[in-house]
Amino acid sequence: MRLARVTLGAEPVAAVVDADDRCHLLAPTLSADPLLDLLRDGRGLFEAARALTTGDTVDLAEVRLLAPLHRPGKIIAIGLNYPDHTAETGMAPPSSPLTFAKYPTSVSGPADDIVVPAALTSQVDYEAELAVVIGRRCGPEGHASRGDVAAYTVANDVSARDVQFADQQWTRGKSFDTFTPMGPWLVTADEVADPQALDIWTTLSGRRVQDDNTASMVFDIDAVLAHVSAGTTLEPGDVILTGTPSGAGAFLTPPRFLADGDVVEVGIESLGQLRNTVRLRD
Ligand code: MG
Repeated sequence: MRLARVTLGAEPVAAVVDADDRCHLLAPTLSADPLLDLLRDGRGLFEAARALTTGDTVDLAEVRLLAPLHRPGKIIAIGLNYPDHTAETGMAPPSSPLTFAKYPTSVSGPADDIVVPAALTSQVDYEAELAVVIGRRCGPEGHASRGDVAAYTVANDVSARDVQFADQQWTRGKSFDTFTPMGPWLVTADEVADPQALDIWTTLSGRRVQDDNTASMVFDIDAVLAHVSAGTTLEPGDVILTGTPSGAGAFLTPPRFLADGDVVEVGIESLGQLRNTVRLRD
């Protein structure tokens, strides 16, 4: 099942997007984050969605797709999780998953602009990532695993490299507003036969710059979830970004950072694609 958060011009609502790209609209929930409400419902996504079925449908082309989760509980990200990317950075391969956080306010939609605060950074980069959405409370006793994953989606871990490396702590430079485009929808885990066998890519203004497969991850999803939940409770609606392949702009020769008007497309096989335009803001 593909679950989207959409707007027809009014309040966001959740919708089930079928194979013919018809959106089956769900009744509003209490918040502007209806898919987060469904994840936290406790009945599971299918039952929770079925209970809100309205019978109203609309073509996908007639709605605006929003980030499926407006404000996830936590966003935990993994660095250096693809061998070729680790090699291009020149950093030492981590012996266990390298984790950092992104603030939930950095989330934006699959077609929203990436707004670059030009006074703060001149080295903004893209990172295609498979995002894992937690479906039930898990850890720290009994580590989390793929069985706790409700859905998968596509994310771009947009990164201000100059800020990231000057700070040494990565969080601020990866958490500016609009720096986590996500979507275009959640694909429920039952529809993803093998999340460790998905092509993943980035196209920057028409040029293919990242091209790999999630099979290349150093620490697979189970290993990542076990590690991040070892001392931390994960909750429904938490999101884990699982790292990016090689080809990030900072490590190209010459480096290629995002410029005003660039179009960044990040895609994952069977999940969908983001398409975000870069806008510099003074
Ligand atoms: Mg990343």
